[in-house]
Amino acid sequence: MAKTIILGAGFSGQYAALVLADALKALKDKEQHEIIVVNPTTNFTYIPSLVWVGVGQMSVKRTQISLKPVYKRVGIKLIQGLATEVHPDEQYVLVDPRDGETQGPIRVDYDFFINATGPHLNFEATPGLGPENGHTFSICTPDHATQTAKRYLEIVEELKKGRQATFVIGTGHGTCTCQGAAFEFISLLHNDLKDRGLRDKVNLKWLSNEPALGDFGIDGFETQMGPITFTSQDLADALYRDYDIAPQIRSHVTKVDEKIIYAEDYEGHKNEIPYDFAMLIPPFKGKAIRYLDKNGADLADKLLNPAGFMKVDAVYGKSYEELDGPDWPKTYQNQVYKNMFAVGIAFAPPGFMSKPYVSSKGTTIAPAIPRTGYTSELTGKAAALNVAEMIQGREPCHTASMAETAGMCIASLKNSLIKGSACTIGIYPIVRNRKQFPETSGRDVKSATVELGLAGAWFKRVLHHAFLHKLAGRPMWKLIP
Ligand SMILES: Cc1cc2nc3c(=O)[nH]c(=O)nc-3n(C[C@H](O)[C@H](O)[C@H](O)COP(=O)(O)OP(=O)(O)OC[C@H]3O[C@@H](n4cnc5c(N)ncnc54)[C@H](O)[C@@H]3O)c2cc1C
Repeated sequence: MAKTIILGAGFSGQYAALVLADALKALKDKEQHEIIVVNPTTNFTYIPSLVWVGVGQMSVKRTQISLKPVYKRVGIKLIQGLATEVHPDEQYVLVDPRDGETQGPIRVDYDFFINATGPHLNFEATPGLGPENGHTFSICTPDHATQTAKRYLEIVEELKKGRQATFVIGTGHGTCTCQGAAFEFISLLHNDLKDRGLRDKVNLKWLSNEPALGDFGIDGFETQMGPITFTSQDLADALYRDYDIAPQIRSHVTKVDEKIIYAEDYEGHKNEIPYDFAMLIPPFKGKAIRYLDKNGADLADKLLNPAGFMKVDAVYGKSYEELDGPDWPKTYQNQVYKNMFAVGIAFAPPGFMSKPYVSSKGTTIAPAIPRTGYTSELTGKAAALNVAEMIQGREPCHTASMAETAGMCIASLKNSLIKGSACTIGIYPIVRNRKQFPETSGRDVKSATVELGLAGAWFKRVLHHAFLHKLAGRPMWKLIP
């Protein structure tokens, strides 16, 4: 009998749970095995669509599915709660229940463990950042996106009365990731304001930690269009010009007060950016879960990187220049405790994709590695299949290296099936793999694609439904990649 615990029911955890349940179904002793998912809510949220929630174009309800009926159907146990402690020697997790009834903590024993807890939104890193204890808005959670839409629509009413405003959108710290979501949000704002006839009332600013426009934390990308090499910098530059957005990059936000965003750049120069409305993505760190050995000693140094993400089968410790595709994790198995895996945003990447900078004042300005929903799913799938192998007494053999998988991103620019637009980007591989593609800076530039237009807007909407269908394990879910 094997008991697998999966912490988190986001992209990576939910997919891992479904894939594992499906893999175990094929075993003769399938009744003997148990899958337990721990998640603080009983919903899965399709986070990519929160960009639409944030501009008041979609309700949160339409981004969610209820986990209980799905798990009942496929035989997964759900514990509504937050994991607080993991004891890898004794193989148990302590869970703080969040169902409003159960008294905690609950002890849950396991044979196999998958950490899929995603990021802690680290607003605390920048004084004044965030909707809870600060002055800026966010679109990273359903509540944040709802609050953002509420404030945005209030300002819209003020603009209608003749008010002018400055909106600042981007990243709220030098080490942020998820620039793509902020890019979508600023584009959606531009088009929404334009449709309302209010665009001339708003000064739209892009503020980010990217080393170059269009970097997106993935070191940008390039695609060959006949004799021309078109780059993500060209794309961002053209879009910002077309949308009349003023970009400011290479910036680390040091503080935010009610009226001013304070930032520092590569040269150590300090900037003050007045604003009326700001949506700044926070930096991410690992969830506050304690890992303790059998003597109660903290295992953080052994198991986690300094940001609190769990180390897996990557080659850690190489410099930016030395790091290459083969150093990226493949099976997502922890190398100290082989029955533990970490997937999605919860695994520790071995380094940066975009070149990190340290300002002349000693401040690190370095976009962290983004992991999209699809990448998170692939890592969850690899870990789930590896657990299934180990349950059958075999070694992990399923891989999903970011240096060997394609990245697909559809950035919504205007959400409409008639007049909409989106930017569809495909790259291979996600992480530059110079060993595989030495001539073209580590990527296959010929297979890279960038398309702008209405087709992308349809595709983005289809993805919303396809992912929700798949992650609810509905008929033929396995056919959806
Ligand atoms: C605004 C926004 C827009 C985005 N747009 C896109 C996009 O267009 N396309 C795309 O591919 N990606 C997009 N992403 C990225 C995508 O959302 C992430 O890649 C994905 O959510 C990561 O999946 P995950 O499973 O690692 O983490 P999450 O989805 O964050 O899931 C983590 C889960 O773990 C739970 N959890 C946390 N702590 C604990 C604990 N202690 N115990 C138990 N459970 C816990 C959380 O409640 C959550 O349910 C976007 C992200 C944001 C913020």
